Amino acid sequence: MTTATLFDYPVPAAGKAASGTPPAIRRIVIVGGGTAGWMTALIFARSLIERGVQITLLESPTVPTVGVGEGSTPWLRGFFDMLGIEEAQWMPACQATYKCGIAFEGWSTKPGFERYFHPFASMLDNMTMTQFVHNAEARVNGANVHAHPDRFFIAARLAARRRAPKARENFPFDIWHAYHFDATLLGQFLHKAALARGVRYKSCHVTHATVGADGAIASISTREGETMTADLFVDCTGFSGLLIEKALKVPFISFADNLFNDAAVAIPSPIGESIPSETVSTAMKCGWTWKIPLTNRYGNGYVYSTRYCAPDAAETELRQHLGLLDSNVAARHLRMRVGRVTRHWHKNCLAVGLSQGFIEPLEATALMFIQLTGTVFLEFLGQGDLSDDAQERFNVRLNGHFEGIRDYIVTHYRTNTRTDTGYWRDNAGNSNLSDNLQKLYATWMAGKSIVPGLRAQVIGHGYPIVSWYAIMSGMGIFPDAHDLRPPSAQEARYDMTKIDDLLERSVGNYLDHGEALERIPPRREGPSLQLYLW
Ligand SMILES: Cc1cc2nc3c(=O)[nH]c(=O)nc-3n(C[C@H](O)[C@H](O)[C@H](O)COP(=O)(O)OP(=O)(O)OC[C@H]3O[C@@H](n4cnc5c(N)ncnc54)[C@H](O)[C@@H]3O)c2cc1C
Repeated sequence: MTTATLFDYPVPAAGKAASGTPPAIRRIVIVGGGTAGWMTALIFARSLIERGVQITLLESPTVPTVGVGEGSTPWLRGFFDMLGIEEAQWMPACQATYKCGIAFEGWSTKPGFERYFHPFASMLDNMTMTQFVHNAEARVNGANVHAHPDRFFIAARLAARRRAPKARENFPFDIWHAYHFDATLLGQFLHKAALARGVRYKSCHVTHATVGADGAIASISTREGETMTADLFVDCTGFSGLLIEKALKVPFISFADNLFNDAAVAIPSPIGESIPSETVSTAMKCGWTWKIPLTNRYGNGYVYSTRYCAPDAAETELRQHLGLLDSNVAARHLRMRVGRVTRHWHKNCLAVGLSQGFIEPLEATALMFIQLTGTVFLEFLGQGDLSDDAQERFNVRLNGHFEGIRDYIVTHYRTNTRTDTGYWRDNAGNSNLSDNLQKLYATWMAGKSIVPGLRAQVIGHGYPIVSWYAIMSGMGIFPDAHDLRPPSAQEARYDMTKIDDLLERSVGNYLDHGEALERIPPRREGPSLQLYLW
């Protein structure tokens, strides 16, 4: 049995603090008051403030936050659970909705695979994973069995019926769900929560950092005339990377050779009475759109590559897609820098959030990475080892996760079968793939199981088995329908009607999404955060 490798990363139980804070870190200054700054402040505050560590967050009064980022992974649930903040407290304040997963529309042109759902795992999925993997492997080997992921997972069925990933009280199966939320409101909520937990706050603009002879940050200076020292500086200054890149000159590695998108345009649209419980990602001419339901509006955006499409054309295409061509609702254009720094922790500086890197928002992984960085840093701090060697191990670990997520995102593009634009053709033909990804594809195409490689974390680092099978099967990476043969008795051993029956009976035990949002159910205690998928 292997734990899902990404979404169930063990979040420390609420109230438990990391031990052994070394006296070397008594003062932490976080520069930046976006989501990264406030999430890091809260993660650190929970473990360190009661040990006498002073945490101060500085935020420029003139540089705005990025103001987007409305989707999440199930890690966000772990974040609020860890802080002991109930959904009923934060969700209404942030116009938040539940998210069962992401529907991908139009990425594949293979008949029957034009749409698939990437589900968040449920305990129930343990009962259908074996069947799904069995069928997917039989189909890669040419057997005509059902292998589209949507029929095997409860989350896909819930989303299709606009139900919440919230079971009625007497139903014991939990779903490791995520949320959609208003990014600005979430920032405000976290700001207040952090102040209430003892984080200090100053509105000031950092103009520069002085680097000492040892290569560490000696102090930072502000436009308001203050100079500050600290034992640890956390760079949460967004894409500008003020400390990690500008002051410490840590190199940045661009991912442009296999992730082409570098811009986005966002436009809100009205939402009706019935609110979905999924993000929809639709393939466009030169990228894809997100459609994220909040309680008061949809957040929409088109993520595209400026190499293939000018911003004006992207905006027009998005407006057309939304039926807002004649509307004067304002569009917001953003540029994205996709890649990562080589070292997230360097000397006395930790980069968190967009300053450490960004993989485009296709799977909404950025907040999860913020959490991962803060949590793993606390783990190292708890061991009292801040040496160069410890920093190296930390950076290798984080870079491994970053590259694993990158591989997963690249797979969306590499496996597309669209031929309508140069953008999609170039993505499908792109041979800039990591060794791990090449091994994964070669294993799949050879009709062998990718499970052993995923379990050993030799391939597909960072994403659980369910996700890899969902994407490869969901995109229809199988022989063409006319090349399929009748299955053997062994290949056809799972009866799809039994799977349908089990999951359909279960669907009725989950709340209607609207109902769940009106009376947000109380948090369930218990071992639900550990999901064992195989
Ligand atoms: C188009 C797009 C869509 C996205 N979608 C998602 C998504 O669905 N899910 C997800 O998880 N993530 C998403 N993200 C990423 C997500 O928005 C960010 O990871 C998250 O908001 C954290 O940003 P940040 O705090 O690092 O940076 P920012 O929000 O840019 O904050 C930077 C902060 O630094 C401060 N600052 C800057 N310079 C100075 C200075 N000199 N002195 C003092 N303060 C300074 C600013 O005032 C600001 O407070 C998306 C990003 C983009 C671009």
